[in-house]
Amino acid sequence: MDSCLFCKIADGTIATEKVYEDEQVVAFNDIDPQAPVHILIIPRKHIARIIDITPEDSALIGHIHQVAVSLAEKFNIAADGFRLVNNCNEYGGQAVYHIHFHLLGGRKMGWPPG
Ligand code: 5GP
Ligand code: ZN
Repeated sequence: MDSCLFCKIADGTIATEKVYEDEQVVAFNDIDPQAPVHILIIPRKHIARIIDITPEDSALIGHIHQVAVSLAEKFNIAADGFRLVNNCNEYGGQAVYHIHFHLLGGRKMGWPPG
């Protein structure tokens, strides 16, 4: 989608230091990190919100989780633990309407979330 920030990051129109990419997904550091490790994992396919995924996207969403785990291992946050977060719509705190999964780690997280 032409007007979408994360589509532009995925296709390279907006330059970002990527920590991982393949045919289906791109991962890059969050511009405003909330933890020592704060990576955003996005599909190249434009899907606005998690509630817009369809059964056709099941393998893609599974792949994103596998990438998240491998990045958690690569950035040494798997053993201590990490959080994988998707924010949906206004009450969920979604600001960018291209689905993304926040991989957060490197510090102990609080619960419940704010
Ligand atoms: P949301 O609130 O939609 O779940 O998360 C959007 C995330 O995107 C925020 O954590 C925000 O800091 C991040 N973000 C917004 N614009 C940019 C950008 O241009 N580059 C990067 N790397 N992250 C961004
Ligand atoms: Zn998009």
